[in-house]
Amino acid sequence: MIDLRSDTVTLPTPAMRQAIASAEVGDDVYGDDPTVNRLQAVVADRLGKEAALFVSSGTQSNLLAILSHCERGDEYIAGQAAHTYRFEGGGAAVLGSVQPQPLPMSADGQLDLLEVVKAIKPLDPHFARTRLLCLENTHSGVVLPQAYARTAKSLCDQHGLALHLDGARLFNAAIASKCSVATLAEPFDSVSICLSKGLGAPVGSVLAGSKSLIERALRWRKVLGGGMRQAGLLAAAGLYALEHHVERLAEDHANAARIAALLDSVQPGCARAATNMVFVDLPEQRLLKLKAQLAIDGIRIRGSRWVFHLGIGPKDMVLLERALATRLLESRSVAGESV
Ligand SMILES: *Cc1c(COP(=O)(O)O)cnc(C)c1O
Repeated sequence: MIDLRSDTVTLPTPAMRQAIASAEVGDDVYGDDPTVNRLQAVVADRLGKEAALFVSSGTQSNLLAILSHCERGDEYIAGQAAHTYRFEGGGAAVLGSVQPQPLPMSADGQLDLLEVVKAIKPLDPHFARTRLLCLENTHSGVVLPQAYARTAKSLCDQHGLALHLDGARLFNAAIASKCSVATLAEPFDSVSICLSKGLGAPVGSVLAGSKSLIERALRWRKVLGGGMRQAGLLAAAGLYALEHHVERLAEDHANAARIAALLDSVQPGCARAATNMVFVDLPEQRLLKLKAQLAIDGIRIRGSRWVFHLGIGPKDMVLLERALATRLLESRSVAGESV
């Protein structure tokens, strides 16, 4: 099975399972798990932050960041299409009484910073208190320009806002831009990274920031029921991923570019690659036909976003290219299109 639905479908490799099996563990709610403590120290160090916290998911990590930066009656600004606004079940509002202020966002993940300034509410009992701006890197596979992040930071400083980065795929951004994750994280007060996407760990995210922010996040993690006991079994997978699965993200990016080029050669203008993703611009009906036909070849797609990851190796790429070359042409006639 060649599964392009997401980079969350990756399975632990035999070597990662070895690392999990031999992990030293303890009760992490008591701070006793040496493997969790090591993972937190490693991530804090890699991101250039004082402290870090291992959590169950990216959604929990972003929520903890918002709850730790804001109080009840505060608000955070995020893009309409940002994960922190659109895809997290309204958690900040539901569980933290923190109101979102969504703003239009360009396809490459940027908010117009003049609009951000206009959206900051005056200090007046009529308004929620604007406390936080949330950005994303990568957004839809696109790397956030470092100059933009720096400008956003100085704007936040001028207006007393904190700046959070949803860096679910920050390591993809680092590999693509040949920048260290510490450099990319530098303008942000808090950064969330996912271990369970392209890095290939089965579970887990890490939130990094100042010592006092992480202390608040630790409290909220317990409140949310996210205090895990011998979590070193999971942290070991994360440590293994950070050691062995970061540099190889370049292969995923190259594979995405290769498939986009192939699609483009069959139908010009129909595909665009961004880090480990390919966005396929075909009519809905035709994409559905293509999905059904590729399923026959053992290839799974979900929609117009195809994601490359460590489960797609060189042999899979050959099969994929062969299948796509024929199926893309077939889907054209099946969907009744003239060209
Ligand atoms: C996947 C993802 C998350 C959330 O991660 P989960 O572990 O699925 O909760 C957050 N932000 C972005 C941009 C993501 O892609």
